[in-house]
Amino acid sequence: MTAAPRTYEVRTYGCQMNVHDSERLTGLLEEAGYVAAADEAVADVVVFNTCAVRENADNRLYGNLGHLAPVKAARPGMQIAVGGCLAQKDRGEITKRAPWVDVVFGTHNIGSLPVLLERARVQQEAQVEILESLEVFPSTLPTRRESAYAAWVSVSVGCNNTCTFCIVPSLRGKEKDRRPGEVLAEIRALVDEGVSEVTLLGQNVNSYGVEFGDRFAFSKLLRACGEVEGLERVRFTSPHPAAFTDDVIAAMAETPNVMPQLHMPLQSGSDKVLRDMRRSYRQSRYLGIIERVRAAMPEAAITTDIIVGFPGETEADFAETMTVVREARFAQAFTFQYSKRPGTPAASLEQQVPRDVVQERYERLVALVEEIAWAENRALEGRVVELMVAEGEGRKDAATHRLSGRARDNRLVHFAPVDAAGGEVVARPGDVVEVEVTYGAPHHLVADGPVRSVRRTRSGDAWEARTAEPAKGVPLGLPTVGVPAPTPDAASCR
Ligand code: SF4
Repeated sequence: MTAAPRTYEVRTYGCQMNVHDSERLTGLLEEAGYVAAADEAVADVVVFNTCAVRENADNRLYGNLGHLAPVKAARPGMQIAVGGCLAQKDRGEITKRAPWVDVVFGTHNIGSLPVLLERARVQQEAQVEILESLEVFPSTLPTRRESAYAAWVSVSVGCNNTCTFCIVPSLRGKEKDRRPGEVLAEIRALVDEGVSEVTLLGQNVNSYGVEFGDRFAFSKLLRACGEVEGLERVRFTSPHPAAFTDDVIAAMAETPNVMPQLHMPLQSGSDKVLRDMRRSYRQSRYLGIIERVRAAMPEAAITTDIIVGFPGETEADFAETMTVVREARFAQAFTFQYSKRPGTPAASLEQQVPRDVVQERYERLVALVEEIAWAENRALEGRVVELMVAEGEGRKDAATHRLSGRARDNRLVHFAPVDAAGGEVVARPGDVVEVEVTYGAPHHLVADGPVRSVRRTRSGDAWEARTAEPAKGVPLGLPTVGVPAPTPDAASCR
């Protein structure tokens, strides 16, 4: 009788970069013979892919590890691994504080995980392996994608900037760029597997090319994506305003499969605070980019990240942020209260803003952001939008029988899958439908009229094929077991 395969669970914290790294960890583990643990079941191997961005990240990690200690003690053979930014930062400290951890691995050596687990098992000893720089670009590792129709594609890792609130440069290292041919080959391979939407990923995605000396490399890459047959939607995240050049706006506007959507972190509208953050653009440059994006793509949805209460932020500085929010009319903004991040220059700055002041400003900012986002959504009522049908949790709302999809501008739309005669419309994840927006809600759109058209796609076929593959153990279209969504408190490094 053969032994049952060992099961795994990957717990992900942090930004999209970590979510993508977790897809690779999952791919590596499956290639090594592990299978995803069933929902609620305790896995044989629990992997924490950590994030060091938030102030209490360590407390949370050690709390979670503490909960697992008795579980592990009662279950011989269970292993615990810790990777990601916090592992890169704390290194050997983790096995000192939690000696029941079997493996600690850094951000540059996720490919070593299966070997380290095996070595820890054979040697009955914790393995700590942290590399200072990348040896293999992580996209060359096997990946178990969360989605049948959408994929992340890393174009670069690391960052050459030195924002004073950010720990990323010291943990992910200097920017390393993949060659365009390699990126495009990966995209073509994904399209051959049924993927029709890719998101190009980089800590500072639009500075792509800095390593091989081509300052137009990112816009060229966007245009090259336009030539990939079968690739319907291209997105990217996150660009830095300082490196945002007009050739990128032109490439976005002139390449039909590059979506009219831009997520561009603002962080603060005050020039003084931007200087203290060591963000090398100013308010006028930021608003200038938005103006040119809107002129080239009037239908674009622009979203952002904002930090409130950076050390030294005065009421007048905060008012500048509110001014930018009013002028930019963001479709959505991820708002964060500044919290000290150990190891960052800003953590030791004097003039930390009192908590109650930060809270009060934060509430005013959120109210303004929501008011504008809702008004922008209401303005879309009556418009016909093209959706790619979504998968995963919330795809089907049991109470309303609505399905969900993403519009070209990335807005979430819940729609009634019925035709003009009241019959059911069958639309699989990855298929494309056209619907008319009947209601603009604060955080999403609703389309309760009949579906105007349905296009069955190769992605829908791929989804059907994957859901019929029980051996993979990941029931796509249902909540994903192997790679849970990131926790909401660290949506972005910025
Ligand atoms: S906030 Fe973004 S751009 Fe700034 S240092 Fe961190 S990763 Fe780089």
